[in-house]
Amino acid sequence: MNLNFTPFQQTWIERVRAFTVAEVAPHAATWDRIEQVDRAHIQKLADFGLFGLTVPTRYGGHGRTPLDALLAVEAVSEGCGISGRLVADHNFGPTGLILHYGSPAQKERWLPAIARGEVLTSICITEPSHGSDANLMETTLTSDGRGGYRLNGHKRWITGAGERDLYVVFTRFDDQPGSAGVGCVLVPADAPGVENGPREPTLGLRGIREAELIFRDVPVAADQVLVAAKPGSFGKLMRGYNGQRVGAAMVATGIAQAALTAATAYAKERVQFDRPISDFQAIQFRLADMAVQIEAARLLCYRAIQSSDPPERYAASVCKTFAAEAAIAVTNSALQVFGGNGYSRNFPIERLLRDARMFTLGGGTVEIQRLGIAHALLKG
Ligand SMILES: Cc1cc2nc3c(=O)[nH]c(=O)nc-3n(C[C@H](O)[C@H](O)[C@H](O)COP(=O)(O)OP(=O)(O)OC[C@H]3O[C@@H](n4cnc5c(N)ncnc54)[C@H](O)[C@@H]3O)c2cc1C
Repeated sequence: MNLNFTPFQQTWIERVRAFTVAEVAPHAATWDRIEQVDRAHIQKLADFGLFGLTVPTRYGGHGRTPLDALLAVEAVSEGCGISGRLVADHNFGPTGLILHYGSPAQKERWLPAIARGEVLTSICITEPSHGSDANLMETTLTSDGRGGYRLNGHKRWITGAGERDLYVVFTRFDDQPGSAGVGCVLVPADAPGVENGPREPTLGLRGIREAELIFRDVPVAADQVLVAAKPGSFGKLMRGYNGQRVGAAMVATGIAQAALTAATAYAKERVQFDRPISDFQAIQFRLADMAVQIEAARLLCYRAIQSSDPPERYAASVCKTFAAEAAIAVTNSALQVFGGNGYSRNFPIERLLRDARMFTLGGGTVEIQRLGIAHALLKG
């Protein structure tokens, strides 16, 4: 199918795929089992040029388009969802917020190091009592009376917490209520008062630590404020976060593609009733339905990433909702094609299903995405 990719993009996809097949995919099952990815692997992703893709070259990045970065996320995710998430985080998500809203000094300080893989970042929004209603968060930044601030709060479900170097922390400024009171600060992980909380024992994507973070009187200088709280600041931050939603949808789609590829190969090999199970129309229809869902999810991702920079909320929510649910359906269907073997940890499908299950939750649940979609439909 001709998707009008540029010659660079066509070559880029092939290069990232080849790298993934050689350096990433062979380790995915091990990282799931030991629930860890070593920093040397993350460095390989950066050395290959997969971080900071959309960061301008003057800030040490690769100066590529958001679609180029998304194509990399897709290719890597087909080999390993965990690695795909790392690539998404270091192009969209926290990296995207610094790129879009950082001062020149903040960009100079952090973006080159992110692109080189020297600084890994996490985004910190969710709290124990505030998930979907993040605009009611209780983490608070208060003035220290000397031109700086102190940060106090408790975050939960922070991807990479305890293993990354820079936290992009959403916080309430003083006691300003509601969304207008929420802004964002940059906090190095080694700042005094940053404490690692317990790790979540997760269903899937186990190579990445999901954990709590506690901020106790953490000193924050004025130049660490990324977005100050004011009317519209929360909406601005959420807009900046749309890239992460599209990135997550692309990871989910890559995982789904991996499941379809495995199921197709298995269906051709597995013989029952003296013929490959791929001869049975029930299996053929299942594979076809999986392909339909993946193709649609993929195109929604490509559309969303090109809707604007950062992506539009509507396009991002549509693609996140569809791709997240498609990935669960596709990986579940792939398990059925594998029969009992799909249920065995000796085959990759159960891992893909566990990995896919996350995407209707992280980055804003599909219910919250649907609320946003409906709001856009109804407001006119
Ligand atoms: C693997 C993983 C990684 C994550 N990584 C990060 C991260 O790096 N940084 C970060 O800040 N957060 C992260 N999160 C947190 C994630 O964003 C939250 O889990 C999500 O926003 C939902 O919040 P909650 O879990 O508290 O669920 P709740 O908000 O308690 O929701 C529970 C259920 O109620 C539904 N619900 C809530 N409100 C409404 C409503 N108004 N209408 C309809 N249904 C509603 C939800 O959709 C959900 O089904 C991660 C989560 C996971 C699972």
